[in-house]
Amino acid sequence: MIPEWIKKWIVKDRLVGNKFRISREYLRRSKSIQFVDGEKDEGTGEWIWFRYMVNSKKYGKYWVKYKRGRYECNCPFFKHRLICSHILAVCQKTNIWPKKEALFPSESRK
Ligand SMILES: [Zn+2]
Repeated sequence: MIPEWIKKWIVKDRLVGNKFRISREYLRRSKSIQFVDGEKDEGTGEWIWFRYMVNSKKYGKYWVKYKRGRYECNCPFFKHRLICSHILAVCQKTNIWPKKEALFPSESRK
């Protein structure tokens, strides 16, 4: 259940597409994606925030944080593009996706 705007982004942007392919590798090795902690809203039962650890064979551990529709990761690619293979892996595992406006604030204002 990948959102349409993510699917289009993966197709349009070769680098992001590549990160998506890497995220599939993490999903195949399910132990490489580990829940750390988080908090659910008692009323709705939805996650307010959570953290996952993603273990890369090559580069070591990365920390993925989610809070209210936004993801963060401490890897270098995230700093440039606000997305990465680690976040995409956690999104697919949890089926919790970022809000589009968190990644493309200018487009959502149109
Ligand atoms: Zn990352």
